[in-house]
Amino acid sequence: MAVPQNKVTRSRRNQRRAHDALTAANPNECSNCGELKRPHHVCASCGHYDDREIVAVVEDVDLDDEDAA
Ligand SMILES: [Zn+2]
Repeated sequence: MAVPQNKVTRSRRNQRRAHDALTAANPNECSNCGELKRPHHVCASCGHYDDREIVAVVEDVDLDDEDAA
C-alpha cells in the first residue's frame, strides 16, 4: 500500500479543501405554474417545458389500490 511520504499539515489540507465548496443551485420560476425548477429541465411539478406539456403529471397515485397491478 502506498504511504504518504510527508505529513499533510492542517494548513495544507485546508488550502486543498478551499476549492471543494458546493455552489448553490440557481432555480428558475416555471413559466406555467410558477414553481421553482432547474434551468433547462422539465418542470417537476407540472411537466411543462417552454410552455408545452412534455410529461403528463398524474394527480395522485394510490399504491394500495388493488386494481393498479
Ligand atoms: Zn411548472
